[in-house]
Amino acid sequence: MSDGSTSLPGAGQPELCLPDPAAGRAPRLGVMGGTFDPIHHGHLVAASEVAHFFSLDEVVFVPTGQPWQKDGRKVAPSEDRYLMTVIATASNPRFSVSRVDIDRPGPTYTIDTLRELRLLRGEQAELFFITGADALSRMMSWQDAADLFKLAHFVGCTRPGHRLSSKGLPSDEVSLIEIPALAISSTECRERVAAGEPVWYLVPDGVVQYIAKRRLYCADPGVARGG
Ligand code: ATP
Ligand code: MG
Repeated sequence: MSDGSTSLPGAGQPELCLPDPAAGRAPRLGVMGGTFDPIHHGHLVAASEVAHFFSLDEVVFVPTGQPWQKDGRKVAPSEDRYLMTVIATASNPRFSVSRVDIDRPGPTYTIDTLRELRLLRGEQAELFFITGADALSRMMSWQDAADLFKLAHFVGCTRPGHRLSSKGLPSDEVSLIEIPALAISSTECRERVAAGEPVWYLVPDGVVQYIAKRRLYCADPGVARGG
């Protein structure tokens, strides 16, 4: 695809993001940004719930560019995070993965992600930026929050351990949605792998296997660990 998105061959990808013409409305595109280090079922459930609630035609997952560090730790290479995201989303014909952030040099800013997707997908597309309660509260303190709202509608998802309050949020531009609580974080997944504990059913099966194959998150990368 022209924007570097992946989608399933034979799964109707020409129609992806093109709504039924009979519906007579603009394509509705969910955008889920994240480090996805690794992607887990909390991410997938959040995307699926928002897609259902807002009748989205597609949700595009956008792994962040390579940060030098995140919270003082090294982040897995962007190609690994990208591939895990592709593996995790491959079975859903409405999910795709974009390389826009990993192919853009420098740090990832949501405003650049949204501008680039808007350019690639056309003016008529309606963008819904999907984000968890933790990330949303951080975003609201950004100086360019008003510019962000011009580019997309924001959907804040509940996330266990993070309070989601509509206080101070512009209700026209931000919707809050309760999703089934999945107390999973990438941090916990990495810690479990490093401790030799299983991550089966926290992340998709293919991602468990990819982590083992690439020896990601191991305390000693020289020693392969089982899931
Ligand atoms: P880390 O622990 O490394 O910070 P993470 O689990 O928070 O990883 P991110 O890649 O930082 O995952 O998150 C991407 C987006 O997904 C963020 O908007 C985040 O709030 C949301 N998200 C992550 N985990 C969940 C979850 N369990 N339920 C709902 N939303 C989630
Ligand atoms: Mg996080």
